[in-house]
Amino acid sequence: MLEVKDISARYGSVKVLNEVSLKVEPGQVVSVVGANGAGKSTLMNVISGLIRPCGGSVLFEGLDLARIPNYLIVAKGIAQIPERRKLFYKMSVLENLLTGATHREAGKKAEKSLAEVYRIFPKLEERQDQLAQTLSGGEQQMLAIGRGLMSCPRLILMDEPSLGLAPKMVKRIFDVVRQLNEESLSVLLVEQNLRASLAMSHYGYVLENGRLVLEGKGEDLLRNEYTKKAYIGVL
Ligand code: ATP
Repeated sequence: MLEVKDISARYGSVKVLNEVSLKVEPGQVVSVVGANGAGKSTLMNVISGLIRPCGGSVLFEGLDLARIPNYLIVAKGIAQIPERRKLFYKMSVLENLLTGATHREAGKKAEKSLAEVYRIFPKLEERQDQLAQTLSGGEQQMLAIGRGLMSCPRLILMDEPSLGLAPKMVKRIFDVVRQLNEESLSVLLVEQNLRASLAMSHYGYVLENGRLVLEGKGEDLLRNEYTKKAYIGVL
């Protein structure tokens, strides 16, 4: 479904991704885990077209994403749920959700998608007229996911959904990710929370200083001596 091949990216003279390759097969949850500054968000931004790589390619369902303008990537079926939510805080919950349905096909299905989002997150329906800034951190994360779902994606890119949330809310968010996956959505998740993300992933990659250093099934990476020593004790 998604094939990232030898991607390199830089900010000015600083190279932050070095020939990174990964795959997401249909129906999978795939995690990229790593510490602060490893390059996880940059990788997500390359896939969604916000950053153009200086080498390599990204194929989505066989389509080379470099060949289309970046604003069309979402219409092809990829939704990004950015780190720190990036909501429109002075707009209502409903208005935020509707900004997710701007491409033509999503616009036609907006009513149905909204009903789906409210089925998954009943809290958002209760609060649809409230300003996004008045929501709790967990509700804001739900809104960010809901807005992504409004674009009718087949693949969602989730950037640190657990960031800044209490453990109970982290569990709720990860349960939702699992549910969405069971309902046929593929997920590429980047996380510092190794344990929670690898536990629910079909496959995982460990990113360090812009390079992939390890990959394997989620459960195998969790048991791996290197990940245990390097991350599980500290993250
Ligand atoms: P975090 O978990 O802290 O978000 P990350 O793994 O997502 O980290 P990135 O945000 O991709 O990492 O950052 C990778 C490296 O690139 C870091 O050294 C960061 O300081 C640098 N970087 C990120 N964005 C920019 C930018 N716009 N300009 C210059 N350097 C940047």
